[in-house]
Amino acid sequence: MTQPQVESGKLVVFSGPSGAGKTTVVRGVLQQCRLPLVLSISATTRPPRPAERDGVDYHFLSEQQFHTRRRRGEFLECFRVFDGGHWYGTLKSEVDAALAAGKWPVLEIDVQGALAVMERHPDALTFFIQPGSAKELERRLRGRATEDEDAVRRRLACARDEIALADRYRFQITNDRVDHAVDQICHILNQEAEKHTYAR
Ligand code: 5GP
Repeated sequence: MTQPQVESGKLVVFSGPSGAGKTTVVRGVLQQCRLPLVLSISATTRPPRPAERDGVDYHFLSEQQFHTRRRRGEFLECFRVFDGGHWYGTLKSEVDAALAAGKWPVLEIDVQGALAVMERHPDALTFFIQPGSAKELERRLRGRATEDEDAVRRRLACARDEIALADRYRFQITNDRVDHAVDQICHILNQEAEKHTYAR
C-alpha cells in the first residue's frame, strides 16, 4: 500500500482509563493507518507479565537503572502510575529517533505523562479514548480475573480522575466499537498529515 507523502513526523499520544480498550484501539490504528506510525517503547520498573518481552513491550528496568536514566535526563516524561506503584517513562531516544526518521512516534501513556508531553510538544496530536459508558468500563475492569475488589475500586477512582482531564486532549474518541474508534482516529491522522504536507 502506498503511504501519503509526508516529510517529517508528528508526535501522537493516546491516553484513556484502564478498561477503555485503549491498547486494542492503538493496535488497530497501528495496523490500519497508512502513515509511518511507530510505537514508542516505554521504560518501566514493573516486572514483565508472562508473554511480555523486554525491548518489545517495554524496556524493563530495575528501580536503580530507571532512576539513573532519570537523573541523566533521558526521559521526555516519567511518573509513578497507579497509587504510587511502578515507574513508567517515555525515553527521549525513542521519540527523537522516530521523528528524525520522518516517522510518527505513538505514545500510549497515562494522563500525567500526556500533560507533560503537551507542554514540551504543544503540536502533538493527543487522543483521549473514552469508554463506551461508565457501566461498560466497570464491566471490563471486573472482567479482568487478575483484579481483586480493592484493585477494581482503585482503578475506577483513577479512571474518574483521568476522565476529568479528557478535555485537555485535542481529540476525544468514544470506544463503543473498536472498528469505529480506529476508523475515526485514522481519518483524523490522515487529515493532519495532509495539512502538514500542504503547510510546507
Ligand atoms: P501497564 O502496566 O498495564 O502496561 O500500564 C499501566 C499504565 O501505564 C497505562 O495507563 C499506560 O498507559 C501507562 N504507561 C505506559 N507507559 C507509560 C509511559 O511511558 N509514561 C507514562 N506516564 N505512562 C505510561
